[in-house]
Amino acid sequence: MKIAVVRETREGETRVALVPELVGKLTALGYEVAVEPDAGRHALLADEEYAEAGAAVDADAVSTADVVLSVQPLDPSTVRRLRRGAATISFLPVNQERGLVVDLRDVGATAFAMELVPRISRAQSMDALSSQALVSGYRCAVVAAGMLRRFFPLNMTAAGTVQPAEVVVLGAGVAGLQTIATCKRLGAVVRAYDVRAAAAEEIRSMGAKAIELELETLEGAGGYAREMTEDRAARQMELLAPYVAAADALITTAAVPGRTAPRLVTAAMVEAMKPGSVVVDLAAESGGNVEGAVAGEVVRIGNASVWGGKNVPSSMPGPASRLYAQNVVNLLTLMTKDGAFAPDFEDEIVVGSCVTHDGAIRHEPTRAAIE
Ligand code: NAD
Repeated sequence: MKIAVVRETREGETRVALVPELVGKLTALGYEVAVEPDAGRHALLADEEYAEAGAAVDADAVSTADVVLSVQPLDPSTVRRLRRGAATISFLPVNQERGLVVDLRDVGATAFAMELVPRISRAQSMDALSSQALVSGYRCAVVAAGMLRRFFPLNMTAAGTVQPAEVVVLGAGVAGLQTIATCKRLGAVVRAYDVRAAAAEEIRSMGAKAIELELETLEGAGGYAREMTEDRAARQMELLAPYVAAADALITTAAVPGRTAPRLVTAAMVEAMKPGSVVVDLAAESGGNVEGAVAGEVVRIGNASVWGGKNVPSSMPGPASRLYAQNVVNLLTLMTKDGAFAPDFEDEIVVGSCVTHDGAIRHEPTRAAIE
């Protein structure tokens, strides 16, 4: 059976769904692997490296493949080239890509969405949301440190003592905890806040100080956060305002699954920050935690420079691709039996991540929204 790896075409996407070092894992499972020419170019992976690892380099790889791998959802023109019954594995944000879901259904594709892989212990090695959040979280810390025109760490020198930077992190999920860990490694004093009850302990375990507000925690299904009411959001902003005003760098990473990002910081809160302050909003692309942040741009609000994240994992394409590819290979391994692609539709990981199969939309909320 054949696996094809596409060359990503969406603007700004630099990752690739398979790296040469993992080609051997797929051939060992019994697959033939073909990559489109230049598939790894933006991640600095040459066609020759794929060929040396045992993959074919083939511009027409998709049309003969049983399984097509990509990072971003396929283009509609690529979907039309799929063999009937072929499978696709990619990120596939079903709420934003309804037209594509219909196309995948209509060509009889079995489409899997990496963001729908259930977040259960057995599927941790397939959890691409976590692996890419790790990259994003690290990057946010490094961006803040790079933009801030002062030291992160304490320096005690013959020329006097330089105080460490004060960093506030809002949202301490996978990305936020990695941001905290990276800021701590760079020596900053870090305070962090998250609405989940478990978060305070996780924040402290990273060596940061947990900001504890007199507000109830907001746990939703599956250990995720719930959306805030307007009153709660206003009160949270009021209580967080002094922490934001005192920070040299503010980094926000808050999200609620399936919703636009919660607004945590108003422009007025940013305006109250000190001259030279830096704000990094990882959620700028999905609505923004910070009012006025623009995805992919640095804007000036009051005294602060505000950086809005846009496809942040693509800023580190090598490691991000390597981690994503490992998640995909682990998922493929689960779905392979005796050298053939044979997903077991009794398995909750398979069922949970499947969007379309056999001419039908299998992801129930998406089917209900579309049909
Ligand atoms: P996410 O990207 O949906 O959200 C990021 C963070 O924003 C979360 O910690 C959330 O609580 C926080 N947040 C939401 N609204 C907020 C608000 N108003 N103010 C402050 N913070 C707010 O979540 P994620 O990082 O993907 O995962 C969150 C949690 O899910 C993890 O910390 C973990 O407990 C759990 N998880 C479990 C597994 C697993 O079991 N395999 C894998 C990944 C994550």
